[in-house]
Amino acid sequence: MRKIALITGINGQDGAYLAQFLLKKKYKVIGTHKSNKPNILKLKRLGIEKKVKLRKMDLGRLKDIQKIFNKYKINEVYNLASQSYIDKSFYDPIKTSDINAIGVLRLLETIRSKKYKIKFYQASSSEMFGNNKNYKQSETSRFDPQSPYAVSKLYGHFITKNYRESYNIFAVSGILFNHESPLRDKKFVTSKVIQGLIDIKNNKINKIKLGNINIKRDWGYSKEYVAQMWKMMQLKKPNDYIIATGKAHSLKKLINIATKNLGMKTKWKGSGSNLKLINKLNNKVIILSDKKFFRPSDVICTRGDISKAKKDLNWRPKTSFNQLVNILIMDYQKKN
Ligand code: NAP
Repeated sequence: MRKIALITGINGQDGAYLAQFLLKKKYKVIGTHKSNKPNILKLKRLGIEKKVKLRKMDLGRLKDIQKIFNKYKINEVYNLASQSYIDKSFYDPIKTSDINAIGVLRLLETIRSKKYKIKFYQASSSEMFGNNKNYKQSETSRFDPQSPYAVSKLYGHFITKNYRESYNIFAVSGILFNHESPLRDKKFVTSKVIQGLIDIKNNKINKIKLGNINIKRDWGYSKEYVAQMWKMMQLKKPNDYIIATGKAHSLKKLINIATKNLGMKTKWKGSGSNLKLINKLNNKVIILSDKKFFRPSDVICTRGDISKAKKDLNWRPKTSFNQLVNILIMDYQKKN
């Protein structure tokens, strides 16, 4: 009998890669989307849009959830759906919290109330650590969320732990640090920078405006990260794990690697919120830091301590930061 996995948010970056991974493992995959007309572009890019069953399920609607859980004999739920834009969470904190926090509770309550024997994965985030001053953040580090998104994720994280401990539900949280891929939406900074630089090189646009260019993030490759979600669900005992590379790189460094790979001759001018990248060919500003894009409060640096995942999941990140930037560049160049 094929196992049945339910992926909420299957049309997102991780949802699409996880679906591909689980199909290879012979799972029957049911994926959910919130809108009436789902955008299946990512599934199509992976050539799996016909291999998964798509169902509408808004995490804000308990009835939607109950209907799906009633209909299918689900073995594993991967809750990847979320309002995942940090900037948007400052403009729409109520909706963000209803989906990212109470949405998790709606799923867990459905499992608990019907005593379903279903394993549950929650997509937690490094954003929950916020400006924790530790050199690296581990599963036991103090949380210090800096956005409504991060606060809502923290609720999702703790309610998952609470249902595991209170009701003996197999529920795990993967605290994933930033992970990117060619499937990442353009609104996220890595895609915005890489696609923007290629468009500047091809004379399609003049410049890119960014927020704080000095932020540092622990950036990994999404395709590798989704495999760890599955591994967590195969453990004997449910637990929470950090998935990261253990290394932090600045946004400035990402830009430097990308411009070098693209053969662009550039130089930096200014500092802080006046930092600018100049195209040496024509002395024009091609990247600038704009106060408008600064968040009300922001996370300066994230770096994950992956000791626990190394030991229990045999987690070893394979794609280096340079390789990741190259993957993104090559993909966008192919499309243009
Ligand atoms: P993503 O591309 O933004 O995908 C999230 C999906 O959630 C979207 O496809 C969207 O589905 C769905 N969604 C939004 N609101 C919903 C609602 N009300 N009901 C049901 N579905 C809804 O995110 P991702 O990068 O794949 O990340 C997956 C998960 O990991 C998210 O929970 C994210 O917060 C978390 N995370 C991501 C990172 C990262 O670096 N990527 C790091 C840590 C944690 P529709 O297509 O139907 O709109």
